[in-house]
Amino acid sequence: MKKIIILSLFLCLSCQQAKTITESQEATFGIVIHGGAGTILRANMTSETEAAYRKVLAEAIQVGHSILKNGGSSQEAVEKTIHVMENSPLFNAGKGAVLTADETIELDASFMHGATLDAGAISGVKTIKHPISAAIKVMEDSPHVMLSGAGADAFAASQGLEIVEPEYFLTERRINSLKRVKEAEAKEKKISSLEKEYVSQQRYGTVGCVALDLEGNLAAGTSTGGMTNKKWNRIGDAPIIGAGTYANNATCAISATGWGEFFIRSVVAHDISALMEYKGLSIQEAAHTVIHDKVGSLGGDGGVVGIDHRGNVAMEMNTPGMYRAHMDAVGSLNVKIYKDE
Ligand code: ASP
Repeated sequence: MKKIIILSLFLCLSCQQAKTITESQEATFGIVIHGGAGTILRANMTSETEAAYRKVLAEAIQVGHSILKNGGSSQEAVEKTIHVMENSPLFNAGKGAVLTADETIELDASFMHGATLDAGAISGVKTIKHPISAAIKVMEDSPHVMLSGAGADAFAASQGLEIVEPEYFLTERRINSLKRVKEAEAKEKKISSLEKEYVSQQRYGTVGCVALDLEGNLAAGTSTGGMTNKKWNRIGDAPIIGAGTYANNATCAISATGWGEFFIRSVVAHDISALMEYKGLSIQEAAHTVIHDKVGSLGGDGGVVGIDHRGNVAMEMNTPGMYRAHMDAVGSLNVKIYKDE
């Protein structure tokens, strides 16, 4: 009798434990996006402009969220969410991208899948309507990870991706930005702090998305026009796997935005993952350390968005603002622009 009681007690405890393990492993999903970091100040923003940014951020993230909610993959969620931002002239990606010193537009993008560690990237392309899709095609349909320039444009065309005239990406706003940045550059250090803020605001605006799907797969993507007034086919961090984009199911998915040279030197996206993997840091601690202690101490500025394999998120920046949004499995939407809101 005593034996039976002890056995049932043991079985009962094991059931309880199994239940707790199942509950703690219950599938969840989530998505985080950014639309660039920089000197984004309330004082420089009209309520109409602010509302326009909030609207597109909400529209974009809802596209990815509904894919994830219906059991779609994090890869599809990242791609389709970024399409919305690439279509919007507000962001420095796809239509509305910033101009080079030669008044052309050169686009960069990258994508990484957390389950397989497969990745794809393109840089300096001029005719691909959705650079993020070209990065995914490089990953899926080429033996390479990164293609650049005219070759990358030709590859995308051969894969049946939508090709547009280079003028499609041009906007009046970015033409004016280039003029202002060139004027400021000509005046060199004599520019006022207000002008410096303006220049900094015009510099950034990359878009990025990270997602966790119901299967537990993470994915990250980043798409950009780079920095206003860039010369010599300059390439930033956005198309560099490990710098601007990284995903690993064991840790997190990260997309970065900011002063690319510093993000490359700090290997930002991979460093956040490595701090989680080797030091056991949470995604928030890791993102904070890399953005503030590493990028910040080198003199760089910008931010990241990230999500880990449990759905915890990070939206970290050392700039006054970063366009960003987050949606969890419950569907609560969180859109923010300034550091404090
Ligand atoms: N990181 C991008 C670059 O350096 C710019 C940005 O994030 O806006 O090309």
